[in-house]
Amino acid sequence: MPGASVSINSGIQIDYGDRRYLLDPRDSVPSDYTFVSHAHIDHVHRPKRGAKVLASRETTDLAYARGYDLGETVDQLDSIDLLDSGHILGSRALRIGDEVLYTGDAAGRERAFLGRCRTRRARILITETTYGSPEYVFPSTAKLVKEVNTLISETFDKGKPVILMGYPLGKAQLLCYYFSAWGPLYLHESVARMNEVHRKYGIELKRGKTVDPASSGDGDFSAGPWLMVTPLMRGSSRFLSSLKRRYGAVIVAFSGWATDPGYGQYLGADYAFPMSDHCDYKELLRLVQEVAPEIVYTTHGHAQEFARDLKRLGFTARSLASHQSSLYDYLREP
Ligand SMILES: [Zn+2]
Repeated sequence: MPGASVSINSGIQIDYGDRRYLLDPRDSVPSDYTFVSHAHIDHVHRPKRGAKVLASRETTDLAYARGYDLGETVDQLDSIDLLDSGHILGSRALRIGDEVLYTGDAAGRERAFLGRCRTRRARILITETTYGSPEYVFPSTAKLVKEVNTLISETFDKGKPVILMGYPLGKAQLLCYYFSAWGPLYLHESVARMNEVHRKYGIELKRGKTVDPASSGDGDFSAGPWLMVTPLMRGSSRFLSSLKRRYGAVIVAFSGWATDPGYGQYLGADYAFPMSDHCDYKELLRLVQEVAPEIVYTTHGHAQEFARDLKRLGFTARSLASHQSSLYDYLREP
């Protein structure tokens, strides 16, 4: 069988054998199989009726809870392996024969109920490179959890509440897992909705009082310290500035981008911790070495920088920037 060809068509398109696969497309585009790696909004779409969608059951359920009906999905197919990518609940990497490994979004370390991206050897590796630049090296999760517990303890001692902010799917559940021993616990409705799907898959997350900023007033919160988990919001938003003014709430943000010391200030948070569901720079390098590919395609974030660094290390690497329409343009490069 001739080697797979890779091109861009709404998502990444792979032609291999007699099948065409479309990976994480933004629209429903004709193919034999569409692969949805995970349920983050920038990776899901609304497939046309009858489209064959490859996704884990968790991804199908999480997407549905977010308003994306993937239809009847399959999670098994001959010559296909779906490998846990560790990014969020249900996230999968796709391996087509021993020809292609597409990581989707991938984590480089274990966190709570999530593992790290599983790898297998493949001739072609397509990997995300969100943090593919050497300044992005994240501290250990244990160290970070300890620091945050100290911060919450000190803030509670002063009688003030703490608001933890992270993506409502993935990061928020980790924040609930690590820190919900503190209470009373309030959950933003989008976080509570995603927690519910996690519970269905046996992940015990403490229930809290659900808060919808659109309908809740200042008076809905108890006096004294409490903990809330919300999506990332600006500190200057009406909701957060009101909680700050009324209760003296301390706002803490969690993101890989917090490696940049200006990130917390940019967001208007009191504190920011570099906690990520993606690989950091070193973890990306390790992932590439484990797969030992002939060629690496990089997507998202620091795609060009990381491809350049890989070339210096002796790999053949190309970045798949979204504005480029075909990979063949790259193959003509020297
Ligand atoms: Zn993601």
